[in-house]
Amino acid sequence: NRRWTLAERPKGRPDDGTLDFETGPVPQAGKGEMLLRTRWLSLDPYMRGRMSDAKSYATPVEIGGVMTGQVVAEVASSDVEGFETGDLVLAGSGWQDWAVSDGQGVQKLPPVERPSWALGILGMPGFTAHAGLLKIGEPKAGETVVVAAASGPVGATVGQIAKIRGCRAVGVAGGPEKCRHVVETLGFDACIDHRADDFEDQLKQACPDGIDIYFENVGGRVLFGVLPLLNPFARMPVCGTAAWYNNAGLPDGPDRSPLLMRTILSMKVRMQGFIIFDTFGMDDYRDFAKDMQGWIADGKVQYREHVVDGLENAFDGFLGMLDGSNFGKTVVRVG
Ligand code: NDP
Repeated sequence: NRRWTLAERPKGRPDDGTLDFETGPVPQAGKGEMLLRTRWLSLDPYMRGRMSDAKSYATPVEIGGVMTGQVVAEVASSDVEGFETGDLVLAGSGWQDWAVSDGQGVQKLPPVERPSWALGILGMPGFTAHAGLLKIGEPKAGETVVVAAASGPVGATVGQIAKIRGCRAVGVAGGPEKCRHVVETLGFDACIDHRADDFEDQLKQACPDGIDIYFENVGGRVLFGVLPLLNPFARMPVCGTAAWYNNAGLPDGPDRSPLLMRTILSMKVRMQGFIIFDTFGMDDYRDFAKDMQGWIADGKVQYREHVVDGLENAFDGFLGMLDGSNFGKTVVRVG
């Protein structure tokens, strides 16, 4: 049984010392277990996170442990009800030839022409694109959707679903060959090379009506190029920040954006900007007024004012309010 185990937690980009490639005996399946032979192993960006013990939504691989990963495997022998020798299954065997399973979390695959697609377009990455775009992005016909890693399993699917929903799909990818594929084969309206010197200008030209949905896959320069082009009420499904996965730490200087984006993603934070009278209407206002008058009358809400006497003192009162020398809502008693 050949297997990749975690030798040490990488600082920055993983290197030769990060994993060990070991060979050992094929494991034996016992009572109520089955033996799985890996046919296809999925490699995904999240695995970089599992090498690290930084705070995350998932537990890291232990030092010495087999690298985690989803596989398509063939059942080599089975004492698990519902699974027979020769079945193809989706399992979490990790980076190894053989694994023993009690059937927990193992999914039988129907006979298909391309079983490996269960690791991509028909599996986790495809599902990520579909749910992230449709449920969080809420695309509407005519809107512009931007997604990076556009030739990869998530991005390629996001853009194609965006097209199916009548949107303008603009991809970002690394290099002219990927960009050509994204436009000519996947049918995106445009694709920009994020390594181009004038990436930001090209992106702007590809999005003449601004950006309504930015499906965040990478962070970094792409994110910063997108920000000035976002339209009011744009949506941003925060899916991944692949550009930063190999960073050894936060960048020098005041830029904390990798931490911000990682926190939004891993804590599933819902963050929405709003400008009160742009975002909400008279119905919302009436709800507010009714609630608040009731709460004040019932003594459930307290209120404090900071009164500045005389219009001539308004400017001092204003500066004081910004500095914090007010205590409560600042108002000027004018007359
Ligand atoms: P890919 O197979 O597309 O691989 C990642 C790609 O990211 C690279 O191939 C590269 O493509 C691109 N990339 C890397 N560095 C940069 C950079 N500095 N600037 C721009 N692009 C860069 O990945 P997936 O489709 O599997 O995943 C896409 C994203 O979705 C990842 O961030 C992943 O972590 C995330 N994800 C999140 C899930 C979730 O539940 N939140 C589930 C699944 C995936 P290129 O050459 O085009 O630059």
